[in-house]
Amino acid sequence: MEYCCSCCCGSTFTALSPDARKERWRRVFRTIEDRTRIPWIGGARQANAGVVAAPMVFWALQTVCGAIAWAPWVLLWLAVVAAHLIWLQLMCLSLPWRTDYFISWTACSIGGLYYVYVEQVLPTQHVSTVLLGHVLLVMVIAAYISAILHRPLSLRPIDVTADGTIVDIAIAGTDRCYPCKVCGYYITRRDHHCVWINQCIGVHNHRSFLAFVLGLPFLCVAYAIMVLRFSAASSGTSVMQRLVYLWHEQQLPALEAGVLYALGCGIFAAALSLGQICSISAGMTTHEIKRASRKGTSRSPHPHTCNRCYTNWMTWWCECKSSSGTVRIDSTMSCTTKERS
Ligand SMILES: [Zn+2]
Repeated sequence: MEYCCSCCCGSTFTALSPDARKERWRRVFRTIEDRTRIPWIGGARQANAGVVAAPMVFWALQTVCGAIAWAPWVLLWLAVVAAHLIWLQLMCLSLPWRTDYFISWTACSIGGLYYVYVEQVLPTQHVSTVLLGHVLLVMVIAAYISAILHRPLSLRPIDVTADGTIVDIAIAGTDRCYPCKVCGYYITRRDHHCVWINQCIGVHNHRSFLAFVLGLPFLCVAYAIMVLRFSAASSGTSVMQRLVYLWHEQQLPALEAGVLYALGCGIFAAALSLGQICSISAGMTTHEIKRASRKGTSRSPHPHTCNRCYTNWMTWWCECKSSSGTVRIDSTMSCTTKERS
């Protein structure tokens, strides 16, 4: 569609359709991925753009944020961090586009906060507190890595009709095998596509993912308490007196800004946990809830779903056991899972 410019130059411009805009952004991202090279012996090598970009953006925002401890300035840059992550997440889901940017960002966040903890807080703590904190940290990281590394063992690319509609093979059947347009595959018991692990949550990794989002809020709150207690002890006051002092002075030093960042991550993970607990208790996946709401119903398409919360949790636990089995999609386009013999 062509529009006339509002001034008198007589020039026209063309408004891009949503698909054309998506394609333009996809081209931009693919060009960045293609051009990202790192110097290497014998010639530059192509690098994973997402993995390389996250530490650079993280460092730049951290530097700007920590340059001045004036609270409105720090809060502004924390908002920029949140806004750019939300925008990129929406872009990934709508384009669709896969990137390791979020995995790299998570690693930078954990690494950055852990460095501050080891350098300043750890030397002042009792050995039992240090051990307890590290056990929690290791459990959360192990769950996160497990969710990333457990991938569907057998994949079938999604079928797309001539008009671009994705064929949903689970509509008529009883198997919970749903398509993901971002991954481009049918995923058994698909819950949703998570950009933070750069793959779908399904039968293969749902338990690890739930362990991660349940453990992360506890880790973030534990970090916040430890750092705030250290900060208050360093200034010879109580935690409340320290917070009141910072509020009156409109100051937010890097240490306390890190606490705010960790709490933001914890709240995000707690919201995810709550959504997961509700959907598993209802015996449905997030994908099924969305599909049911589009049809104006709250009923699950899965025949094993019942009104008993405990039974739904047991069904979920047993179905996700097949992460050690083989996900098989046969020639009749129905998904089955079988335990590895
Ligand atoms: Zn996916």
